Amino acid sequence: MPQPSWKVNEIFYSIQGEGKHTGMPAVFIRLAGCSMNCPFCDTKYAARDGQTLQAEAILKALASWPAKAVIITGGEPSEQDLPALIGVLKDAGYEVHLETNGANDTDVSRADFVCVSPKRYVSPQMLKKAHVIKLVVGQETDLEDLQKYYAYENAHTQIYLQPESNKQENIDLCVKLLKNHPSARLSLQTHKLANIR
Ligand code: SF4
Repeated sequence: MPQPSWKVNEIFYSIQGEGKHTGMPAVFIRLAGCSMNCPFCDTKYAARDGQTLQAEAILKALASWPAKAVIITGGEPSEQDLPALIGVLKDAGYEVHLETNGANDTDVSRADFVCVSPKRYVSPQMLKKAHVIKLVVGQETDLEDLQKYYAYENAHTQIYLQPESNKQENIDLCVKLLKNHPSARLSLQTHKLANIR
């Protein structure tokens, strides 16, 4: 039987810069490929470039660093065999975090933490599985559209508002929204502010 493999753009050790786990050292596995093509995407390079790796090569790379937390990101991880990758990492003893746009309803039951950041389309099933729903907010964001995500907020799921590209006008818009919706939280891309790779 052929071994599963994944097209990987990069694996690197850094600090989680945004959301609930800001400041946590972690290894990032950036999977290649994303069909969403958002205009504000800051990882467009990951949509095309990547090398095919099997589990052994991925685990070997992870073993170079002391962190036991791994963040699977992209690109869009759910466009590949994500349940198998999560399984490989969990079986090896890692704490697995996932960043996904939530467009594809995928089995993420073994992941320790699921962050769904909806873009043009999101699966309602994935919103229900999210620990965090991270909404990228820009001046052109349809504020009425945001209301529908608040319906998924519950004891299991926290909403974060993240200003698009850390622009001041988007930060101002997030603050205004948060003041009207105080159960949500602000997420800044601190790795960009601190110039951390
Ligand atoms: S869904 Fe995410 S990775 Fe894909 S194009 Fe949009 S911002 Fe980029």
